[in-house]
Amino acid sequence: MHMAKTLFDKIWDAHSVLDEADGNCLIAIDRVFLHERTGSVALESIIENGYSPRNPSAVFATMDHIVSNKVDRKADDSRTPDGNVFITATRDAAQKTGINLIDVLDEDQGIVHVISPELGIAQPGLTLVCPDSHTCSQGALGALAWGIGSSDAEHAIVTGTLRVKKPPQMRIKVSGKFKEGVTAKDLALHIIAKFGAAGAKRCAIEYTGNAIREMSIEARLTLCNMAVEFAAFTAIIAPDKVTFDYLKERRYAPKEVAWKQAIQDWKTLFTESGAHFDYEYEINAEDVQPTVSWGTSPAQAISISSEIPENADKIVLDYMGLSKGTYLKDYAIGGAFIGSCTNSRLSDLRAAAQILEGRRVKDGVTAICVPGSMAVRRAAEAEGLDQIFLAAGFEWGVAGCAFCFYAGGNTFAPGTRVISSTNRNFEGRQGPGVRTHLASPAIVAASAIAGHICDPQNLKEA
Ligand code: SF4
Repeated sequence: MHMAKTLFDKIWDAHSVLDEADGNCLIAIDRVFLHERTGSVALESIIENGYSPRNPSAVFATMDHIVSNKVDRKADDSRTPDGNVFITATRDAAQKTGINLIDVLDEDQGIVHVISPELGIAQPGLTLVCPDSHTCSQGALGALAWGIGSSDAEHAIVTGTLRVKKPPQMRIKVSGKFKEGVTAKDLALHIIAKFGAAGAKRCAIEYTGNAIREMSIEARLTLCNMAVEFAAFTAIIAPDKVTFDYLKERRYAPKEVAWKQAIQDWKTLFTESGAHFDYEYEINAEDVQPTVSWGTSPAQAISISSEIPENADKIVLDYMGLSKGTYLKDYAIGGAFIGSCTNSRLSDLRAAAQILEGRRVKDGVTAICVPGSMAVRRAAEAEGLDQIFLAAGFEWGVAGCAFCFYAGGNTFAPGTRVISSTNRNFEGRQGPGVRTHLASPAIVAASAIAGHICDPQNLKEA
C-alpha cells in the first residue's frame, strides 16, 4: 500500500543513502554554501588534513559576514578588527580547493541567503547546507536547506553526505487575506510570539495555505528565514508557478531541455493527501497585525498598537529601557536599519522607499540601509531607490551582514533604541547595549521618519 508522503519525505527519501534505523540517516548533499566567517575554518581544515572536495563545482563561498559595508571598500576591508584574516583565508582556500568563490568585489557578492536564490543555486528538491543558521531561508524555493556547523560542512564537502537525525514534521497552514500593510515579517513574528521561541520543536516546518501561495518568493524567503528563531530544523514551501517563474533564466537554473525536465520533476514536489505530520497548526491571515518585538527574543513581539505585557520580565524590560503597560509608539528611536538576510531584497527596499519618498528622517536618528546583494543594490539604483533613501537621510551601504550582528567595528552607540528589519534581537546582537526592535521594512521606514516606533498607517495621518 502506498504511504502518503509529505514534501519533506519526498526530498529526504530521494537523498537517503543509508537509514541507520536509530533515527539517523546518511543524506546526500547536493550543494554546500560557505561564508568567510565559518567557511574558512572548514576549508582550511580540509586542506590541512589532505582532503579535497568531492565535487568542487557544488560548493560555493561568499564574503558577507565581516566585509565592510562602506561604498569604497577594498578587497580585504573588514568591518571587524582583524577580520581580513578570514577574508584572505577563505580566498586562498577557495583557490586551492577549486570551489566557486564570490569575492568581496565581485558583482554577484552579497549575503549568502540572498544570493543563493538570486543566482538559482537553491532549487526545488535539492539538499543544501551552509554553516549558518539562517540557511532555512532557502526552503522558500522548495529546497531542503538547513544550517550546520563547520565540521559538518567539512564532512559534506569531502563526502557529499551528512549524517542527520530525521526531524519531526510540522505543517502550518495560513489561510485568508492579510490586512493592508501586513507583511511576511509580521506573520513570522506573529507565529513565533504565538507559539514561543521553542515552538517549532526542531521540526521541519511546511508552510501551506492560500496566504502562502499568494506570497512572492521574496516574502516566502522572509518567512522561512525566521524559522530558526522558532527553533525549527528548517522550513519549506512546495514549489509552484511563482517558484518556477522566479528561477527561470537564473545563472545556475537548468536551461532548455533540462529546464523542461526540471519543471516536470518539481511539479511532483508536494505533500500528498493524508500524509502524516507530527504537529499541525492553522493561522488566520486576518488575525496578523503589524508586529514589532519589544524584548530580547523574537517571541517577545506584539501588535504595534498593543501595550507591553504586564507580565514582562524585569531583566528584559531593564535592558530594553521599557516599562510594562506602555505603548511602543511612545518610545523614541535613535537608529533605523534596513538590511540582513531577512529583509534586504528589492521588494523590501521598494516598500521602505514608498514611505520615505518626499520625507526626511527625524533629527537624531541614524538611518542605514544595506542592500542584501550587489545585484539588489544595482536593481534598486536602476529604479532610483537609492536617491530616495539618500534624500531622506539614510546611508546607502554595499552588500553584507553589517549592522545585523556585531562582531566588532562600527555599530550604534550603547543604549540606542534601533528599529531593525533583522531577525535577532538578543542582547548585544547589533552592538553592546543596543536595544533592537524587530519589524518589517515599512515599519522601520515609518519609524525613522516619525522618530519613534510608528505604524506606516499612522504616519499617513501625521
Ligand atoms: S544577515 Fe545577519 S542573520 Fe543573515 S546571515 Fe548575515 S549575520 Fe546572519
